Amino acid sequence: MLLDEIRKLSLDYAQDNVGARRHLHANPELSYQEYNTSKFVANRLKELGLNPKEGIAGTGIVVLIEGRNPGKKTIALRADMDALPIQETNTVSYKSQNPGVMHACGHDVHTASLLGTAKILNEVRNQFEGSVKLIFQPGEEKNPGGASMMIKEGVLDNPRAEAIIGQHVMPLVSVGKVGFREGMYMASSDEIYLTVIGKGGHGAAPELTIDPVVIAAHIIIALQQIISRNASPKQPTVLTFGKISAEGATNIIPDEVKIAGTFRALNEQWREEGLKKIKKMAEGMAESMGGRCDVVISRGYPYLANDPALTRRLRHAAEEYVGKENVVDVELTLGSEDFAYYSHQIPASFYRLGTRNETKGISSYVHTPTFDIDEDALTIGPGLMAWLAVKELMES
Ligand SMILES: [Zn+2]
Ligand SMILES: [Zn+2]
Repeated sequence: MLLDEIRKLSLDYAQDNVGARRHLHANPELSYQEYNTSKFVANRLKELGLNPKEGIAGTGIVVLIEGRNPGKKTIALRADMDALPIQETNTVSYKSQNPGVMHACGHDVHTASLLGTAKILNEVRNQFEGSVKLIFQPGEEKNPGGASMMIKEGVLDNPRAEAIIGQHVMPLVSVGKVGFREGMYMASSDEIYLTVIGKGGHGAAPELTIDPVVIAAHIIIALQQIISRNASPKQPTVLTFGKISAEGATNIIPDEVKIAGTFRALNEQWREEGLKKIKKMAEGMAESMGGRCDVVISRGYPYLANDPALTRRLRHAAEEYVGKENVVDVELTLGSEDFAYYSHQIPASFYRLGTRNETKGISSYVHTPTFDIDEDALTIGPGLMAWLAVKELMES
């Protein structure tokens, strides 16, 4: 039976996949600079006799694995390849050799896992109809998002993918388990940069100044009311300012204050409305106090919604693969992901691969210097992805 064969291949190749993951983990590269990673991926694919297309959106790679009757249907699988500007503090043998750069979001795992999937699908290609398109993309962690660039370069076309599946490590879910969610899953994310301009002067003579620190304080408090009074209580949304700088002193009122933050939403209409209100309120408040506020908005990724019908089918297929007891629900999050761009083009589903193991001391969250995974996850990830793709191809 194909399911058993895929499961067996996933176990047989586990050691090799762990080796690939460790190589990538030790040699991380920042967003849009994944040159060696990309070469490594392309070489591995060529060793399988495949014909990868390289240099898409810089370092991106696409490869097609054709089964019988390859034109019948195409399903896409996606991995991201970039690392983060974090200094790793783990002391494992495969720790980052690149100072200040670390695979702290598990994209090494996603890449190694999808290489494993390539090997498995390549071996069973006579046992499925249709094609599987593997996408290795750059720059998930940084605007404008590698996914948006890959889409512009046409990775979803020729042949057109009917659906796309993404896998991401999850340190909140135990190794051996996988997590799914139908419908709305992750938020849109925009960066807000405010510069409040007043008129500096002596701290003891405020009447001769326009104090931008006081104006900034009013703006920060007022903007929180956009969330509490304008957004629907039924619609999760967040506005956080994590950075304020006023370069004055105890007795000096500065000329300006800079504020930076993030705005998250799960609804495009509210996202547009919220951004407009933020700009209007910040400008109006500064003006009413005699100052000025320059508002710059850097647009990030849109919300990510998992196609309900697709996700339901994938969940069922995952239950066949890992057992019903090992498939869990994951909660809505206001984190963001550039996989969202694919979900605005074709039916998409983004699921989680459990990587937590407290008995091994592996529980750190992603984007921390102590993040790591239980590599037993690599006995599951590659085969599960292959099985999900094959099952989707069987859907008429
Ligand atoms: Zn990340
Ligand atoms: Zn990530």
